[in-house]
Amino acid sequence: MIYKTGLLLLALSASALSYAGKLNVVTTTSDLASITETVAGDLANVSSICSGNQDPHHLQARPKYVMMARKADLWIRIGMDLEVGWEMPVIDGSRNRKIRPGNPGHLDASAHVHKLDIPDAGILSRAMGDVHASGNPHYLIDPDNAKHVADDIAERLTQLDPKNAETYKENAAAFSSKIDEKMAGWKSAMAPLNGKSIVTYHKSWIYFCEQFGIEIAIELEPKPGVPPSPTHLTRVIQTIQAEDIEIILQEPWYSKKAAERVAEKTGARVVAAPTYTGSDPEAGDYIALIDLIVKRLTE
Ligand SMILES: [Zn+2]
Repeated sequence: MIYKTGLLLLALSASALSYAGKLNVVTTTSDLASITETVAGDLANVSSICSGNQDPHHLQARPKYVMMARKADLWIRIGMDLEVGWEMPVIDGSRNRKIRPGNPGHLDASAHVHKLDIPDAGILSRAMGDVHASGNPHYLIDPDNAKHVADDIAERLTQLDPKNAETYKENAAAFSSKIDEKMAGWKSAMAPLNGKSIVTYHKSWIYFCEQFGIEIAIELEPKPGVPPSPTHLTRVIQTIQAEDIEIILQEPWYSKKAAERVAEKTGARVVAAPTYTGSDPEAGDYIALIDLIVKRLTE
């Protein structure tokens, strides 16, 4: 019996590994890909569905994504409804049972992160806009959350590929130490912004701002996912003037038109900074991404 179980385990782990014994990992976003590459080193082939310049809220399920999913041993998502519009069509289309939610080949990276903006079930309605019922999904921009994600990825890679457990664990620990090391520098660079208010386009910066002690006075979007309206922009302008706000922060994929109009009326500075790895040549990996955001906000 023990012999049989051993054989079965052997067969399972052999089927989990594809070419050259490497795991094929597909992530929904480029940050997840970067963290997975750091944890897996050269033990996995990692690819991301979204490039750093694509808005993961609004992706179309394409045949090329289905092809990527078909070959995956592990699928990693941000979760908290970020990919709700396209994840299951891609997984269903791939007919790859391994990566269906609930199986070891499917990892929801939000499992152990610190979450913000979890709405009361009672007040949740469509009228609130594109609000995520399980909370705000833009958690990975907080480096402390990235550490939790790296640990979860290491644990799942270990489950799929136990013989390399030690490497995964060491790489995740090295990533966490690197973040702890960098945090002091990021905090001192960001110190001039501590306690200040800024304006952002989308509600995608709340975790970053909480980490660095910045208040978000108002968003350019009147509701998440709803483009700025003239009436709302008037409110934004009033808020900026009342609170002496100096920065309007937004991702590069949003039109700068609204921000520039507001900037013209108020003298605030428009800062375009990416929230995803790979969206800028300077944001080649997760840590470089945080470096770049800090640089853009403080230059
Ligand atoms: Zn969002």
